[in-house]
Amino acid sequence: MSLLPEGIKGLILDMDGVLWKADAPIGDLAATFRRISEKGLKVVFATNNSTRTPHQYVERLRSFGVICEDWQVVTSSLAAVDLLGKRFPAGTPIYAIGEAGLTQALDENGFTTLPVERAEEAQAVVMGIDRAINFQKLSEATLLVRRGIPFYATNPDKTFPTPRGEIPGAGSWYSIIVTASGIEPIVAGKPGPAMMELSLERLGLPREQVLVVGDRLETDIAAGQAVGCACALVLSGVSSREQAQAWLPAIDVIAADLATLVS
Ligand SMILES: [Mg+2]
Repeated sequence: MSLLPEGIKGLILDMDGVLWKADAPIGDLAATFRRISEKGLKVVFATNNSTRTPHQYVERLRSFGVICEDWQVVTSSLAAVDLLGKRFPAGTPIYAIGEAGLTQALDENGFTTLPVERAEEAQAVVMGIDRAINFQKLSEATLLVRRGIPFYATNPDKTFPTPRGEIPGAGSWYSIIVTASGIEPIVAGKPGPAMMELSLERLGLPREQVLVVGDRLETDIAAGQAVGCACALVLSGVSSREQAQAWLPAIDVIAADLATLVS
């Protein structure tokens, strides 16, 4: 018997902990996605990671035998730029602290990204993880935010997993600006609703027909529930069955992994 709730026509899939762990795929992804396509399910991938571009994820998925297109990948950078696009016209100068995933999304949406030397011209600040972050970048962003310039962040994750353990994530870095300014950013990624709304738009399905699948209760499941989708927790990543059973509101499905969920 299928674990999928009745009437589901689309999936919003988290990636780390659902499809892979570090560099290792979880199960036979090619077979799992054949199964998903046999069931006629549409798929969008949604990740809080802001550093990579959608195309980099498409290439990574292809290396595991999963064929998809760029539009099917929603990153927290894309979600942040989508939020900016709802408020500011194309051409607006933006000061961004981030990597290719963020700067490319800004470029593609017609925003002007400023170098740090011209940061003071910005009409909005957006921050993701930047492995070349430094004192000058953080100072310029703080000056802007303290002046009342709108402040956005890609995702709230305090840490970022590496094979050696957890290192500071976007949430830790932007907390410096929060501490220095007393102002909190508008956050695009999970558990906020913005990334889920963009994913639903991409799927083109009503939310009652979409299942959000993730491995972390406080981000994936909270985000899915925030937008009124059914949610499935897979046990191949961070959260345990005991934690999932204690979560409220109750989760629709708890499955060992994605393959089991769609079998
Ligand atoms: Mg995950």
